[in-house]
Amino acid sequence: MSQKPDNSQQIDELMTAFFAQARAQFGPAVKTYWFYAGDLCPGCSQPTDGAMKFKGKDALSLNAYIYRERGVLIGYLLCKTCAKTIHTAAQKNPYRQTPLHAQIEQFLNAAYLHHIRKQDSQ
Ligand SMILES: [Zn+2]
Repeated sequence: MSQKPDNSQQIDELMTAFFAQARAQFGPAVKTYWFYAGDLCPGCSQPTDGAMKFKGKDALSLNAYIYRERGVLIGYLLCKTCAKTIHTAAQKNPYRQTPLHAQIEQFLNAAYLHHIRKQDSQ
């Protein structure tokens, strides 16, 4: 059995910081935040633990975007391959969305709506 490292506290801190940033930038359009804690990478639907080497140290490849229709900041982790793809694309075209971004957002929007529905039915 593989044991996942417990990085929930680190994720909480990062999400709080991202949310504060988003609030400062977009104001009340961003109402809340949610972290996708599923086991699949939103980019390629492969299992991921979100850990990657960053400058020789283990780092979380935490990313976030705003699901505007819902006013929610969604945080997520990518597998190493997708994180690298995004990173490489961002170096070439820092502000351009890639097809991978679109795929990730579609995946996470659906995951978020599923999450909301589950909460509503409880
Ligand atoms: Zn991936």
